[in-house]
Amino acid sequence: MGSETSSEKQGEGSCLCGAVRYEVRGPLRPVIYCHCQQCRKSTGHYMAATAAAREDLVLTEDRGLKWYRSSDVARRGFCGTCGSTLFWEADNRGHIAIAAGTLDGATGIKGEAHIYCDFAGDYYNPAKDGLPVHRAHGASVMPPGD
Ligand SMILES: [Zn+2]
Ligand SMILES: [Zn+2]
Repeated sequence: MGSETSSEKQGEGSCLCGAVRYEVRGPLRPVIYCHCQQCRKSTGHYMAATAAAREDLVLTEDRGLKWYRSSDVARRGFCGTCGSTLFWEADNRGHIAIAAGTLDGATGIKGEAHIYCDFAGDYYNPAKDGLPVHRAHGASVMPPGD
């Protein structure tokens, strides 16, 4: 089974100023929109996150990367220079969530679901795009924020 090429670049991205740059050398998960309070605070609206296996995320520039321990179970990666939201990483999980807006160019991925909609702001409607809406986290999705 060793013939799969896991080193092929599937996507790349950066923060606003370029002090954090990354490549993803494996499949990207469909985008989950998380409306939890932490995602709303840290992004200024809500989190649109793809995800990748932790070992598939390769930092090609990390001089700006800072981590904030946002809960007992996870930390959030952001750029300390320009403030861009970049990553969400749970302890003891094999994947890392990546803010979809930081990817460059066409991604080839699509939205999958909205989660933690009980915490959505009253100034928008998460159900508008017709994707599944979960009050908390969906049974089959990996919550990018708790
Ligand atoms: Zn930056
Ligand atoms: Zn969240």
